[in-house]
Amino acid sequence: MDQLSRVGFIGLGNMGRPMAARLQEAGFTLTVFDSDPQARQTFLDGHGGKGASSLGQLASSSDVVITMLPDGHVVRRVTLGDAEDRQQDHLVGSMQKGSILIDMSSSSPTGSQDLGRILSQHEIRMLDAPVSGGVPKAVDGTLAIIVGGEASVVEQCRPLFEAMGAQIFQAGALGSGHALKALNNLVSAAGLIAAAEALLIGHRFGLDPTVMIDVLNASTGRNNSTENKFKRFILSRSFDSGFSLDLMVKDLTTAVKLARETGAPAVFSGVCRELWAAAQSVLEAESDHTDVVRWFEEMAKTELR
Ligand code: NAD
Repeated sequence: MDQLSRVGFIGLGNMGRPMAARLQEAGFTLTVFDSDPQARQTFLDGHGGKGASSLGQLASSSDVVITMLPDGHVVRRVTLGDAEDRQQDHLVGSMQKGSILIDMSSSSPTGSQDLGRILSQHEIRMLDAPVSGGVPKAVDGTLAIIVGGEASVVEQCRPLFEAMGAQIFQAGALGSGHALKALNNLVSAAGLIAAAEALLIGHRFGLDPTVMIDVLNASTGRNNSTENKFKRFILSRSFDSGFSLDLMVKDLTTAVKLARETGAPAVFSGVCRELWAAAQSVLEAESDHTDVVRWFEEMAKTELR
C-alpha cells in the first residue's frame, strides 16, 4: 500500500476541522467522521469530501486513518471499541491489512505504544504525530508535526504531513511524538503562568501591562505566551485561543506521569500541573486555557487590562 490517497479523518473540532480541510485542498480523497453530527455536517458544507455514517464505514474506505480526538482514551475506544461492548462501532475490524493509523491527537505515549502493539497483531501500522501551533497554524497548514514510529512508514505518510505542517520532526519510535508534545506543553504552560504572575506583580506596583509585554518581548523574559497570547487573548479579555483548559491540564498530567514512569525529578513540573489543575477546578466548564490568568487575577485581586 504505497499510495495513501484515501484518507479517513476522525475528529472535526477546533484543530481537526482546519487540518482535514488542508488535506481536502491538497487533493486527497477524504472521508470524515465526528461523533457530533453537526461538526461533520459543518465540515462537509464548508469543505466538501465524503461523510461516513460509522467508524467501520470510514475504515473500510481508507488506506490511512487520522485521529484528532480529545485524548488517547478516546482514540483507543474509537480504534478497538469498548471491551464491555463487542458490538460497538470501531475501526479495527474494518481496517485493511497494511493500512495505517496516525494519531495526531495529544495522547499518552505509553498508551500509544500499547495501542501500536495491538494494531500490529492485525497487520495495521501506527504512527503518533501530535501537532503544535494551535488553530491559526492549523488553518495556514504550517503546524509543527512531531512524529513517532517506523521511519519507512513516516516517509510513506510524508505527503499527508506536508499538507498540514511546515515542519515535520521525526522524534523516534512510536510514542516519542506524544512524549515530546506533552513536554512541549509543560514548558509552554509554565511560561504562560510565569508571565501572568510577573505581570500581576508589576501591575500592582503600577506598571502598565501592555508596556510590560512590549518590554518582555524585547528582552530575555519573552516566550510564546508573551509574544502570541497575552495581547491577543488575555489583555483583550477575549480568552478565545481555541485550546481548552481541560486539554492543557490533560497534557500536563501526561508530562508529570512520564516523569514518574521514567524516575525523573519533576518538582517544578508537579507544582505547575497543580496550579493549572486548581484553576480548572474553580473556572467554568469549557474554559479556554488562557482563562487560567483570570484565576491568578482573582488571587492577586488585580485585573490585567
Ligand atoms: P476539540 O474538543 O475542539 O475537538 C475534538 C473533536 O473530537 C470534537 O469535534 C468531538 O466531537 C470529537 N470527538 C470526541 N469524541 C469522539 C468520538 N468518540 N468519536 C468521534 N469524534 C469524537 O479539540 P481540539 O482542540 O481540536 O483538540 C484535538 C486534539 O489536539 C487534542 O488532543 C488536543 O490536546 C490537541 N491539540 C489541540 C490544540 C489547540 O490549539 N486546540 C493544539 C495542539 C494540539
